[in-house]
Amino acid sequence: MANTDRIIAERTRDAELIVLGCGTSTGVPIPGCDCAVCTSQDPKNTRLRTSAYITFPNGEALLVDASPDLRAQSLANHIRHVDGVFYTHAHADHILGTDDLRVFNFRRSGPIPCYGSTVTTDLLKKFFGYIFEPDPSYEGGALANLSIHPLRGSASFQFAGTAIHPIELYHGSLPVLGLRIGELAYATDCNCIPESSLDLMRGVKVLFLDGLRYEHHPTHFTIDQAVAIAQQIGAEKTYLIHMTHNIDYHEVNKKLPKGVELAFDGLRVQFSV
Ligand SMILES: [Zn+2]
Ligand SMILES: [Zn+2]
Ligand SMILES: [Zn+2]
Repeated sequence: MANTDRIIAERTRDAELIVLGCGTSTGVPIPGCDCAVCTSQDPKNTRLRTSAYITFPNGEALLVDASPDLRAQSLANHIRHVDGVFYTHAHADHILGTDDLRVFNFRRSGPIPCYGSTVTTDLLKKFFGYIFEPDPSYEGGALANLSIHPLRGSASFQFAGTAIHPIELYHGSLPVLGLRIGELAYATDCNCIPESSLDLMRGVKVLFLDGLRYEHHPTHFTIDQAVAIAQQIGAEKTYLIHMTHNIDYHEVNKKLPKGVELAFDGLRVQFSV
């Protein structure tokens, strides 16, 4: 690489987010459902459970949530390494892939760091007791080697040489975390963003935001609520995630205002950090 090329590469510090899944907790299609979306042949109407994979300029990668579809998502997106996991919260659709992280231990030394609020990390230790407090007489294959890193509120931390800013959100009455990294903010599973968190999200170019469906839900933004929040934050591009089978990709996408789109599994977005 010529010197000038290297200088430009260092200055822009490009990162990439891959949408591993943008479906609600059931995934889409829902087994046994004959609705138009669940029987659609359009790949954009197939949604694995919501999760993302972020690659940093130094080549390291952060998984955002370990969904029950992690194995299939890793194969579909040719994921070869996971260098850390950021858990937004401990609902089943965001943590049940944790056991599948063990395959990524095969190709690295040391534990994979797992970040989340203290509530989330306490629940991880409880749900995955066999990983975090293994039975000394266990004789099976290698367990996942994970280290727990509880986060304190919205205090930022360093990962892959980059500042990661947790964002406090509400999912009904449950506090959950989103994150901001450079020009990107990611907020799944929420229906309330406190003013101080909105401040943290202003100025982003790319926003990923919960937009479940049109009908009201007690713990998720509807499409209309998400559009209103997207316009308030004012990102150049907002992608809605965590959608149900009520959302037909092409039908809904064409109705969204400029700058707001539905995400789809496999979507890749570049941003600067
Ligand atoms: Zn969820
Ligand atoms: Zn359906
Ligand atoms: Zn949830």
